[in-house]
Amino acid sequence: MNVNREIRLASRPVGEPGPENFELVEAEMPQPGEGQILVRNTWMSVDPYMRGRMDDAESYIPPFQVGAALEGSAIGEVVASRAEAIPVGATVSHFLGWREYALLDAAGAVVVDTGVARPQDYLGALGTTGLTAYLAVTEIAPVGEGDVVFVSGAAGAVGSVAGQIARKLGAAQVIGSAGGPDKVKKVVEDFGFDAAIDYRAGSLAERLAELAPEGIDVYVDNVGGDHLAAAVGALKVHGKAALVGMISQYNATGPVPGPSNMYDVVTKRLNLRGVLVTDHLDRFPGYIAQAAAWLADGSLRTAETVVEGLEQAPAAFLGVLRGANTGKMLVRLA
Ligand code: NAP
Repeated sequence: MNVNREIRLASRPVGEPGPENFELVEAEMPQPGEGQILVRNTWMSVDPYMRGRMDDAESYIPPFQVGAALEGSAIGEVVASRAEAIPVGATVSHFLGWREYALLDAAGAVVVDTGVARPQDYLGALGTTGLTAYLAVTEIAPVGEGDVVFVSGAAGAVGSVAGQIARKLGAAQVIGSAGGPDKVKKVVEDFGFDAAIDYRAGSLAERLAELAPEGIDVYVDNVGGDHLAAAVGALKVHGKAALVGMISQYNATGPVPGPSNMYDVVTKRLNLRGVLVTDHLDRFPGYIAQAAAWLADGSLRTAETVVEGLEQAPAAFLGVLRGANTGKMLVRLA
């Protein structure tokens, strides 16, 4: 095993990215120095926020560099260790995905307990998407007993978990939106939402008004744009929204129009609050303990779309931006 393989950023996209923006490259197998571990990645995550890192733009996380390997959450097995705290054979979570083998300082890896959940769960329901969903409905826009909750991107990793936790918190009605009849069916039948709207098939605002004629108390926004506008229109006085992501505008090449009904925020005294999971990573141990129990007792249901092999990772990422996934989009590397 002298050769490692990694995916590098070949060029920056304008608008929607394509396969030409990625390059699969063979690199030398790294060797751990003192305090380091070598990890054979078994699973990696592709996430919508990575689209922003492909641009040369200031943000909360630095841009990927052209010619350098991409990064992102991954799970793997330690195959060589010069760090006392992490033995060979441990399963670890870390941030050097997009490559088959990752060289890490031990401090950059967290040993995960594969006795309580599957390794890939630590990239989904027990990973950042799960924690984001939990924060959204417990802290950013806390769901209370009897609330009517609307979740966009409801067939996706964050949305599917957010809706189910909202139910656990006592929501009276949980409504989701997703693209296409199959996803809508899954949102209701598998994730237990009361209703789901196919946003591609008609007016979202009208469907929302039909399903929740008295309005909604809480909105979890994964999409932005027309979804945010419909939710602002539907929120009750003193309603709350957790602004988690705005995937509808990640490929925009210029300024996007905002919702035209923002004065509703004033008149209805709405609370719209953004969240970045990276501000709350200290919450992981407590959250994982709770969510692993929910997975084990079957009260939190997950789905994943799995793509095989590092060479398919760019296709998986391009797919997540276009809705090719149900639940968490994952790449299996070994
Ligand atoms: P995901 O929902 O599993 O996958 C993305 C989904 O977005 C696609 O499957 C697609 O589903 C939907 N989509 C794509 N384009 C759309 C459009 N124009 N309009 C409506 N829906 C569209 O992804 P995720 O990882 O769970 O992330 C969901 C959102 O949360 C993203 O906005 C992401 O950036 C954000 N996020 C934020 C944080 C944070 O810390 N703030 C952390 C994690 C994720 P359909 O087929 O239903 O269209």
